[in-house]
Amino acid sequence: MNKIKMVDLENQYATIKSEVDEAIQTVLRSTAFIQGPEVQEFAQELATYTGVKFVIPCANGTDALQIAMMALEYKPGDEILLPVHTYVATAEVIALLGLTPVFIDVDWNTFNIDVTQLEKKISSRTVAIVPVHLYGQCANMEIILQLAKKYNLHVIEDAAQSLSAEYIFSSGERKKSGTIGTIGTTSFFPSKNLGCFGDGGALFTNDEILAERIQMIANHGQKEKYHHEVIGVNSRLDTLQAAVLKVKLKYLDDYSQRRMDVASAYDSAFGELENVEIPARSVFSTHVFNQYTLKLKSDNRDDFKKYLAQHDIPTMIYYPVPLHLQKAFRRNNTTNGSFPVTEKLSKVVISLPIHTELSNEQIEFICHRVKLYFKNDGR
Ligand SMILES: *Cc1c(COP(=O)(O)O)cnc(C)c1O
Repeated sequence: MNKIKMVDLENQYATIKSEVDEAIQTVLRSTAFIQGPEVQEFAQELATYTGVKFVIPCANGTDALQIAMMALEYKPGDEILLPVHTYVATAEVIALLGLTPVFIDVDWNTFNIDVTQLEKKISSRTVAIVPVHLYGQCANMEIILQLAKKYNLHVIEDAAQSLSAEYIFSSGERKKSGTIGTIGTTSFFPSKNLGCFGDGGALFTNDEILAERIQMIANHGQKEKYHHEVIGVNSRLDTLQAAVLKVKLKYLDDYSQRRMDVASAYDSAFGELENVEIPARSVFSTHVFNQYTLKLKSDNRDDFKKYLAQHDIPTMIYYPVPLHLQKAFRRNNTTNGSFPVTEKLSKVVISLPIHTELSNEQIEFICHRVKLYFKNDGR
């Protein structure tokens, strides 16, 4: 059996090597490294895939969030609601732009923003809600859209972990994550569901004026070279990365299916175990499992992690320190106890290897070891 990895980019590359190598060679020969034709081709193909009108590529998923907030012209002091159980990027850009991150605790079952706590945190300064579709499953968008409408707020979806997941409205209508709010953002970091060979990101919107503004901001605030209409940033997707992504986009549905299959195998192996909770599936979303995250019912995560490591099974903790307890975000006047669900999650979550190249033998081995641990309860 090959060594089990958290993410296996080596074997994934091997399966598409000739196509990717050829795409890269084409860019190398053209030398159009910045804004080469592949960038717009990829944007167009991703727009078709997601069903959104405009896709604007940029340098990474963090920039995508920042550019979204710049395009919506927020002013210092404006408040943005976001889940406290998320990757730092979401909160970081809010603070960087002089805006105020207002953290919301998450739902224990789905790990996503607790929509029942949103309304009481909306103030006269609130301008947007940023749901993060954590681990690959959509937040409750229908409630979020209702609140956004009622209070005239934007919705910026952080779809960095959920590209290809579908939100299922109560009408039965389905939309791809990232295409539902005012703006959606995603990341092509190598370990994301659609990953490139470096950094990459994109924004989604159905609003043409906003799309134009986003495009301009991502490229130094210019539409025409050397004519700068607004303050922008330098955040472009490299042509080489676009060429790689063009190839990989064709396989995204297969990749997501493979992740879902691994998750199903884990679910059936661990569903019966008493001391772990398998990830809950929302009725209103598909789950594309950027992460497969267990919750341990007893206080033995370090021991469990060590046990798996001894059997060469890597694991990760997303995220070990909640954002409101990070030194960088302390000024928010929050302390231990402010967000009990997130604080508890930070102590009990553990993510198992899940990726497109996990073999059945590896899956069985992981299931066997996890089950053995819990049957013996660590002893
Ligand atoms: C990865 C990630 C980002 C940032 O993406 P980068 O491309 O690494 O900048 C933002 N939000 C979430 C939830 C992420 O997982």
